[in-house]
Amino acid sequence: MPLLLSGALHTHCRETQEVTHLNVFFLIVLCLVLALLETRFALRFDAAANRRQRWKTNAIAFVLASLVSSLMQYVLIAKIEEIEFKGLFRFLEGLDQDTAYSTTFIWLGIGIQVLVLDLYLYVWHRLNHKVTFFWRFHQFHHLDPYMDVTTALRFHPGEILLSQLLKFGFFLCMGISKEAALIFQTLVTASALFHHSNIRLSTSIESFLAPLLVTPRHHQNHHSWFLEETDSNYGAIFSFWDIIFNSKTFCQAPSSVTIGVPTHSAQTVNSMSIFRQILTPFQRIKRWPNAFLQRK
Ligand SMILES: [Zn+2]
Repeated sequence: MPLLLSGALHTHCRETQEVTHLNVFFLIVLCLVLALLETRFALRFDAAANRRQRWKTNAIAFVLASLVSSLMQYVLIAKIEEIEFKGLFRFLEGLDQDTAYSTTFIWLGIGIQVLVLDLYLYVWHRLNHKVTFFWRFHQFHHLDPYMDVTTALRFHPGEILLSQLLKFGFFLCMGISKEAALIFQTLVTASALFHHSNIRLSTSIESFLAPLLVTPRHHQNHHSWFLEETDSNYGAIFSFWDIIFNSKTFCQAPSSVTIGVPTHSAQTVNSMSIFRQILTPFQRIKRWPNAFLQRK
């Protein structure tokens, strides 16, 4: 999944950097607002959550992943400047932006690129669950024994490295514009903060949003102890990919969902230092217990 500062790959020009700073400011404010709403409208209650320790772990993971992400961008941006590439969407840059027709066409192009990028993230996320090598790193995100807005910041630096490399290749092949990349990155990060947050939406808002966007209830299944649910609801921004590709599971009552991975109880994770948690990809992957393959 995406990271707050993992940003668009094209951040080398000054105006883009200014826009990026504005986006980061917006996302920090959003993060704080969601954290505040969690205290008033909680979806789940868990006395064993041990928030202080989780927040510390998630904050350190975020800093480590951001360092890797920034380093990767520094290296990859130098490469972008070297390569004269012609991806699928590059033809949009040749359009004269002064005519109303071209402006509409450009925005339509950005919309399509955002959809394509979201589909790409859906596929990447699904691969993270189905390919053992990727799961080793992605498991770190799922090991969080409770889910709130800070879970959106918790990714293994190894996953960020792999994801940035593959995303770079995808951006090159598709010729994604810097505007589309920036808009997508802002939307996907805002969505990740929102759908990881522990916020209970009213029934009417939930039924209005859920067919189109990933909501906290839709995503809580994805962090469930039951494998059938963990391997479902992969969407990042749009929830309909899960319907189209048959990976949606019915939203469970919040009280019946245990968050995390059953091989690592909340107590076990709480007793692990951040260093030990970072090392989990290099240890033997434990078999998912039969009792938690699917709900009876
Ligand atoms: Zn996942």
